[in-house]
Amino acid sequence: MILPGEVEHKIRGLCAIARGRETGGILVGKYTPNRATAILTAATPPPRDSKAGRTWFHRGVAGLQRFLAKLWSKPSREYYIGEWHHHPADIVAPSTDDVRQMKRISEDENYHCPEPVLIIVGDGRDERWNARVFIFPFAGQPVELQECSM
Ligand SMILES: [Zn+2]
Repeated sequence: MILPGEVEHKIRGLCAIARGRETGGILVGKYTPNRATAILTAATPPPRDSKAGRTWFHRGVAGLQRFLAKLWSKPSREYYIGEWHHHPADIVAPSTDDVRQMKRISEDENYHCPEPVLIIVGDGRDERWNARVFIFPFAGQPVELQECSM
């Protein structure tokens, strides 16, 4: 998976305005021609019916159907890739709710996404990007992606 600087920047901005609460949204992207690699193109803010506290986040669904339909009808072919979460902590990991949500998404035909990605962003120290990336394969255990630059 490739995470361009502008998408990282967008997520960082959305984390900053969450003021110590969890937040999150949807990841959009396209695939390389061999479909081996997803290239993120956008991260959305939380839908307006989302709810959040200091240690929990329920991503809402307002406008989601229309959003996904619009995505798939674009000539450039963009796809739902997964979710991003902000956990306001130094050390981050998927919560049991997160694992449940990702599993549901991988099984939900509305998303057309059997292997959704979850990016969890912790509190950044200095300019460091404190994030972990997981893939949730359909009917499998989550796999963490390691960071490498190209
Ligand atoms: Zn989470």
